[in-house]
Amino acid sequence: MSHKLKKINSYNDVKISEQGLILRKAYGIGKGHLISFNEMTELANNKLTEHRSGCIVHEAFNVPSTSTGKNKTVAKNNSNDTLGEACPVENTESIHQDETNTAVFFCPEVGCVRKFITYKGMENHVLCGKHTLQLEKKTTYDKIREQWASLCNDVVITCKTLSSPNSSVENTLSCEQMGWALKKGKRTVRFPERVKKILTDKFLDGVKSGKKSNPVEVCEQMKSLRDSVGKRLFRVDEWLNVAQIASYFSRLAGKAFSVQTPVKQEEIYDDDLMAALSAIEEQVLMDNINE
Ligand SMILES: [Zn+2]
Repeated sequence: MSHKLKKINSYNDVKISEQGLILRKAYGIGKGHLISFNEMTELANNKLTEHRSGCIVHEAFNVPSTSTGKNKTVAKNNSNDTLGEACPVENTESIHQDETNTAVFFCPEVGCVRKFITYKGMENHVLCGKHTLQLEKKTTYDKIREQWASLCNDVVITCKTLSSPNSSVENTLSCEQMGWALKKGKRTVRFPERVKKILTDKFLDGVKSGKKSNPVEVCEQMKSLRDSVGKRLFRVDEWLNVAQIASYFSRLAGKAFSVQTPVKQEEIYDDDLMAALSAIEEQVLMDNINE
């Protein structure tokens, strides 16, 4: 508001009295300079007339007859809540919380999802309420971690499900589950006497004649040899392959086997035949796997 009061900056004390405005240079000292309301009106240069709006007042503003009341709340059993869910502030909050459709005031706390229909409810919540933090959505890394954790927790079940299309593999796995790491006992299967015989005979022939027996030939002979009735001398599962025969011969030679010292032949044979036998078993196993 502009004014035409002279020397207004030099007055420090302004007091409104019944007569008008009393201006003093120092607070409460002296009579002061009185400006009456009439003078002020003149000084204001009739600008007060601008503030008349021309509105016609039919009825003055009044205080509502029922300004107080009670809020009906649902009883809560949260007796262990230290902050007090039962306190009035929280109760009004919970009422407002239910009417989420009309709620327009959101808690300004980052991560808090509560909203209220009144500003006061929101204010109370911010001041002494409990923030309800909630994730908007999980990150991809969190999902991966959870999936990995579940995989790790039921690894056996997952294994079975994965191998279900191949039932034979699953059967093999399931029967191998128990005691697969235990040390296996020594096998007591006897190598067929006739296999033992032909191999040593072939080796001795080679030593005698000075011409080493060819494992390839021995192998072929094992497959083709027949007895007097024309029946095969060796069953298919008794056949040795070339490598097995060669290995057996080299073992015999390595032990410095000679015709002149045929002492304890049986034991030596047995040891080497057991070695040959285990080689056969390995071969059979490999064949089974490859089939
Ligand atoms: Zn909050």
